[in-house]
Amino acid sequence: MSESAYRLPRTVVPSHYALEITPNLVAATFAGTVDIEVALAEATDTVTLHALDLTITLAKVSQGDGQAAGQGAVTTQTAEVTDDDETETVTLRLANQLSPGTATLHLAWTGEISDGLVGFYRSTYEAADGTTATLAATQFEAPHARRAFPCFDEPDMKASFGVSLVTDDDHLAISNSAEIGRVPVDGGLVRVSFADTMVMSTYLVAWVVGPLEATEPHLVGTTPVRVVHQPGQAHLTAFALEAAEHALEYFEDYYGIAYPGDKLDLVALPDFAFGAMENLGCVTFREVLLLIDPSRATRAEQRRLAAVVNHELAHMWFGDLVTMAWWGGLWLNEAFATFMEMRCTDHFRPEWEVWAEFGLERSAAFTVDALSTTRPIEFEVHTPADAEGMFDVLTYEKGASVLRMLEQFLGEETFRDGIRRYLADHAYANTVTHDLWSALESTSDAPVGHIMDAWILRGGHPALNVARSGDTLALTQRRAVPLGADEAEARTWPIPARLSVGTPDGRLVLDQLVEADSTMTVPSDARWVMGNASGNGFWRTHHDGELMDNLLAHLGELEPIERYLVVDDTWADLLAGRVEVSRVVEVCEAMTDDRHPAVWRRLGGVFGGLRRLIANDHLDQFQAWVRSVSFVALEDAARLAHDGDAAAQDLYAVLFGIAGVTGADPATQQAARELLAADPAKVDANLLASATGVVAADASAAEHRDLMVRWRAADNPQEEVRFLYALVDTPSREDFEATLDLVTNEVRTQNAPYVLMRALSHPTLGAIAWRYLIDRWGDITERFPTNALPRMIEGIRWLTDDAVADPDAERGAPQFLARHPLGSGDQLVQQSLELQAVHRALVERSRPSLGGLIAQRVPGGA
Ligand SMILES: [Zn+2]
Repeated sequence: MSESAYRLPRTVVPSHYALEITPNLVAATFAGTVDIEVALAEATDTVTLHALDLTITLAKVSQGDGQAAGQGAVTTQTAEVTDDDETETVTLRLANQLSPGTATLHLAWTGEISDGLVGFYRSTYEAADGTTATLAATQFEAPHARRAFPCFDEPDMKASFGVSLVTDDDHLAISNSAEIGRVPVDGGLVRVSFADTMVMSTYLVAWVVGPLEATEPHLVGTTPVRVVHQPGQAHLTAFALEAAEHALEYFEDYYGIAYPGDKLDLVALPDFAFGAMENLGCVTFREVLLLIDPSRATRAEQRRLAAVVNHELAHMWFGDLVTMAWWGGLWLNEAFATFMEMRCTDHFRPEWEVWAEFGLERSAAFTVDALSTTRPIEFEVHTPADAEGMFDVLTYEKGASVLRMLEQFLGEETFRDGIRRYLADHAYANTVTHDLWSALESTSDAPVGHIMDAWILRGGHPALNVARSGDTLALTQRRAVPLGADEAEARTWPIPARLSVGTPDGRLVLDQLVEADSTMTVPSDARWVMGNASGNGFWRTHHDGELMDNLLAHLGELEPIERYLVVDDTWADLLAGRVEVSRVVEVCEAMTDDRHPAVWRRLGGVFGGLRRLIANDHLDQFQAWVRSVSFVALEDAARLAHDGDAAAQDLYAVLFGIAGVTGADPATQQAARELLAADPAKVDANLLASATGVVAADASAAEHRDLMVRWRAADNPQEEVRFLYALVDTPSREDFEATLDLVTNEVRTQNAPYVLMRALSHPTLGAIAWRYLIDRWGDITERFPTNALPRMIEGIRWLTDDAVADPDAERGAPQFLARHPLGSGDQLVQQSLELQAVHRALVERSRPSLGGLIAQRVPGGA
C-alpha cells in the first residue's frame, strides 16, 4: 500500500459537523447521524472519508444550485457506499457529479461501544450498592474518531463541531463545549445539545455519557471549571481543581491569549488507555492522575498529578488552538506540552524543584536515544500504526529537553515572545516544525532553525568530552553510544553549550555555541568545571580524569541537578565502556554527604543496576555496602523528616526504600512492618509508600495476602496502584505466579501491562514473568490496549539470563519477538531488545571485577 493511500485528497474539505450520538449503554451499541458541510475544490462523483467498524445505514449528499441560501433549489442524491478496511475509509459514489462549491453530506450509522479503550468505548465501576455501573467515553487520538463517526480524520482537516447526545435524563452528558439545550425525546430520553466548538481537529472531539457527577463550576476569569468523577469521590477533587485554576491563569499570561474554550471539564475515567487526553474543554484522565487525597499521597504522586493537569491544559493552546499539520509533527505538541507542564508546575509549587526531578525522565530519554535503534524526534509517519509508535520518551522527554536547552540558550523572555508570536500567527490553523523556528528567529538573533534541525531531524545526541590544560578547556564531541552498539558515523551537533565553573569568588556560567571540536578559556583559579550547567543541555558529559576528581571534591558547590548528572553521566560512561565499574562505585561513595531526593533517587537506580551485576555469592556484601553508603544520609533524613520538613520527608522515604530493599537492612524492614501496621493517618504518606515497597520485597505469604486485601480495599487511586504494584515485588515464586494470574484476570486492562512490565523487571523472578507472558501472548496482546504493549515489553531490559536474552534461545526474547511482532510500536520493542543486549554485555564485562571490589569495602569481606 503506498503511503499516500492512507491520506485523504484535499479536494473535499469539511467546515462543520452537526453530529448526534445515541448510545445504548446496556446493549453496548450506539447510533449516530451527521451532517457535514464540505467545500469541493473541483467537480467529483466520489467523496472519501474515514470510518472504521461502523455500519453506514444512510448516505446522501445535497447541494444547492449556487444561488444564495434559501433562494435556489437543493438537490439531494443517495450515495452508494463502499468501505476499505486497510485505509479505514468509506467512499460515497454518486450517480451525478457534484459541482465545485459547497455541499452537505448526510450520514447515519450504527456501531458497537467497544471494550478496547479507543474510539467510543465502555468503562465500568462498582457502584455503592455493589452493582456494576457503566459509562461510555471517547478516546480519538491517534486516530480513532473514525471509530465513532465518519469524518475527515486528519489533523489539518479542521472544522467546527456541533454535538448532541441522546441519553437518560439522570446521566451526566458532556462534550467539548457548554450545554445549550436539553429537550425530551422518545423513549424517556433527552437530547442534550452543546455549543459549536471552535475550528479544531477531529482527534480533539470528545463526549462522555453515564452515571457520573461533577463538582460545582468554579469560575476562573470567565471559564467555569469542574472535575467530573464517580459518585462518592468529590472529596478527592480539590487538589486537581487548585492545579487547574492555577494553570489556566498561568498559561493565559504566558501565551498572552485567552483560554480558547467556553468551559473546562476535567474528567476522571475508571478505564483509560493513556495518562490523560487534551480534548478541548473535556480533558479526560485516568483516575490516579486526577483524583487525590494530598494527605494520603506522596509528594511524587502529587507532583505527577499536577504535572499531568498542567500538561493537558498547556495543550489547549499548543495542540488544540495551533495543531501539527500531520502526525510526524506530533513531537512538537507533546514536547512543548511537556516543557510547559514543568514551567507551570515549577510556578505552582517551587519547593518541588521540578527541574531537578526532571532528571530521571531525561535519563530515560538519554538511555533510548543512545541506542542504534533510536529515531529522530521528528519522524515520518504514514499509517495509523506509525502514529501510535510516536508516543514515547523521544517525543516527550527528549523533545522537552531540547526545548528547555533552546529556551535557556535564547533567554526565557525571548523564547516566550517567540511562542506568543507563533500562537498568534497560527491560531485555528496547522503548522510544521519550521513555523516555530521562524517565530523564534523573529524574536531572537540566533540561528534557531540551524541549531534545532540537528537535534530534531537526527537521532542520537553528543557525548561532550571536557579536558583542561591550564586555563584552556578542550571540548570534543562524538555521538554517545553504548559499548558494542554499531559504530555511528562521525558527526557533530551545534551544541548551545553552557558550562558552570567554580572559582574562589563563586560560580560562573560560560556560554558558547560549539559547532565542532572547540576550546574555551576558564579563569586560571577555577577549582572545578561542570560541562552541563544546571543540567539543561541534552548531551552527556565526560569530564577527563582530573576534572572529574575536582568535581567529586567540590560537590557541595554544584546544583542538585548537576550532582545528579555526575552520577547519571558516570553510569552512561560505564555503559559506553569509557569507565570501569570501579569508577561508578567511587562516585556512589563520594555522594554520601548529599541530601537531595533527586540525587538519591538516581543513586537508588544505580544501586539497582549494580544489583544486576553482582554475583549471588557477593550479594550479602553488596547489601552491606549499600547500607554503608546510605546510612548517614538515612539517619540525617530521619531526624529532619521528624521535624515535619516536606523535602526531608521525601528524602527520608527514598533512603528508607534504598536501605530496606536494595540494602535488605533488617532494622529497616522491621520498621517498615510496624509502619504498615500503624494508623495510616499518623504516618507520613511518603514514608508509608516506601514502607509498602520494603515489606513487599520481603513479604511472607501472609503479608502478601495482606497486601492483596489492601489493594482490593483501597479507597483512593494512588493507594490502589501502590498496593497493586507491590504485589509483584514479592520474593516468593508461588506468590509471584499467583499475582501474574491476577494481573491477567482481575486487574483492569489499563493497568495490567504496566504491572507485567514491573513483573518482568523483578530482580530474581523476571524470567518467570517472561515465560508466563509468552505462554499467553495471544490472549494478552488481544485484550490489553495496543499503546501499552511496547511499554510492557520494556520490562525485559534487565532480563539478561541466557534463557531470555540469548539470541539463539528459541523461547528467548530476540527470537520470540521477531516471530510475534506487535501491530504498532515495533521500534520500541527493538530498543528494548538492544538495551537487553547492552546490559547483557555489561554483566559479562563487569561481574567478574565487581564482587572483589565490593568485598574489599565491607567488614568481613575479602
Ligand atoms: Zn500531551
